[in-house]
Amino acid sequence: MIRVTQALRTAQLQYPDRLASIYGDRRHSWAEFSDRVARIAGAFAGLGIEPGDRIAILAENSDSYLECFFAAPWCGAILVPVNTRLSPPEVSYVMNHSGAKLLVVDEAMASLWERTRPLVAKVPDEVRIEPGSGLDSLVGTSGPIADRSEGGVETASIFYTGGTTGRSKGVMLSHAAHILNSMAMWATLGLSGERLRYLHAAPMFHVADAEFVHAITLVGGTHVIIPRFEPAAALSAIEQHRITDCILVPTMVQKIVDAPERAQTDLSSLQRLYYGGAPMPEAVATRALAALPDLGLVQLYGQTESGPVLTLLTPDGHRSSQEQAVRKRSAGKPLLGTDIAIMDSDGNLLPVGEVGEIVARSGNLMSGYWDDPEETAKAFRGGWLHTGDGGYMDADGYLYVTDRLKDMIISGGENIYSIEVERAISLYPGVAQCAVIGIPHEQWGESVHAIIFPLDGAVIDTSALLDHCRGLIAGYKCPRSFEIRSEQLPLSGAGKILKRELRDEWMKRTQAAYRAG
Ligand code: ATP
Repeated sequence: MIRVTQALRTAQLQYPDRLASIYGDRRHSWAEFSDRVARIAGAFAGLGIEPGDRIAILAENSDSYLECFFAAPWCGAILVPVNTRLSPPEVSYVMNHSGAKLLVVDEAMASLWERTRPLVAKVPDEVRIEPGSGLDSLVGTSGPIADRSEGGVETASIFYTGGTTGRSKGVMLSHAAHILNSMAMWATLGLSGERLRYLHAAPMFHVADAEFVHAITLVGGTHVIIPRFEPAAALSAIEQHRITDCILVPTMVQKIVDAPERAQTDLSSLQRLYYGGAPMPEAVATRALAALPDLGLVQLYGQTESGPVLTLLTPDGHRSSQEQAVRKRSAGKPLLGTDIAIMDSDGNLLPVGEVGEIVARSGNLMSGYWDDPEETAKAFRGGWLHTGDGGYMDADGYLYVTDRLKDMIISGGENIYSIEVERAISLYPGVAQCAVIGIPHEQWGESVHAIIFPLDGAVIDTSALLDHCRGLIAGYKCPRSFEIRSEQLPLSGAGKILKRELRDEWMKRTQAAYRAG
């Protein structure tokens, strides 16, 4: 069985002097980093961690976080990264459900943990990431131990899904899944690590950024880490550290592209900007490429359950010719080792061009949901992972994601994909963020409601916006109502727009207005 710790040992053997991590003033070569990991693993073992135990981490991004991604499996344990934006009851759910025996927590999350601790059934031991010195105290107290992952548990980590659409579930990802997904991505992009400098600006607790923990290590690149995503800090880190690669969710890409500091920042080192996790507004991709003509945009499509990447749209795909412009809207082609198909609700595979649920088979899929055989069986019915996303394939093998099935609006018997309507709206000048949701309608079942947050200073004329939409999409798909917000739309911990919350807000407001007469 291949293990994530082998990727680390390869980097240590092949590139001992190359920089592994940069966090503030702290820098470690691969030789130092690997030694620290083996010592931290030793300290974990000294705290009574046995193979198969779960170690949770509730922290902002740091080099210590990176060390835990390897130290937990090195001592045979499973890492459980916890979303830092959760409330105390939600964090306690993750702690109780995963049965974590140890918690690694930093100063920024200490107060969240204080509020959570009384709600946790079996309070775990705690290890502190200290400001300035990280996990140095653990490194100092233990000698390096031998890698205990060999012949141990297959699971390397459990990621709790963001709950964008429902209750959070613990996705088990194996050592092999992490390595295979990284290898498949590099095989498609043909990269080596020599001059690779990756910026962890997106949260490391989310599988999208965590994918690069393993991918960058595998090729001996350098991890540059900032505590959290802030546009100015991310821009300055790109310039200062000559970053070559970075993944962001589309809302973060938009903030970077529209940040006032962007024009004064030297971003010439940035070769690939990966994005995924949600559909990218076309206008944002266009603005990004206009500002950085040499930038390679790489779209990744997948989900926590798929470990995570299923398909990839290459930089060339983003620059498709006029005749093939529609490809820019696709999520690209399946990665090496992944089969994608489209299925109807009766489990029949659908032909090219027909919309159904996207299903997948691949070596990098989750092994299942932690302690939830029922949901696991549901996700894998018929031997395919059911993504819960709607989509279709074209004749050349490109995948198009039409919508999350739960976000699709059915109005007057017609299926309306919220993503398609959002794409049209986002092309209207002055739109910074938009979300399209279905709201109840007596006659049509649901009607299309658009919620918009304008760019700084922009005034949105909704009747002109409606005309603009009519020019791009069929009349029945156009919004029947608009809401212009003065505040940003609610985002998940990973930075995705929370449509579930917007729907709930709308319902609450409407019911309150109804009650008030
Ligand atoms: P939940 O708990 O509801 O699954 P989540 O959004 O946090 O919440 P993730 O696994 O992070 O779960 O997100 C995966 C989903 O994000 C996919 O199923 C898909 O709907 C969406 N997504 C991911 N990549 C893309 C992409 N490139 N284009 C469009 N949508 C995408």
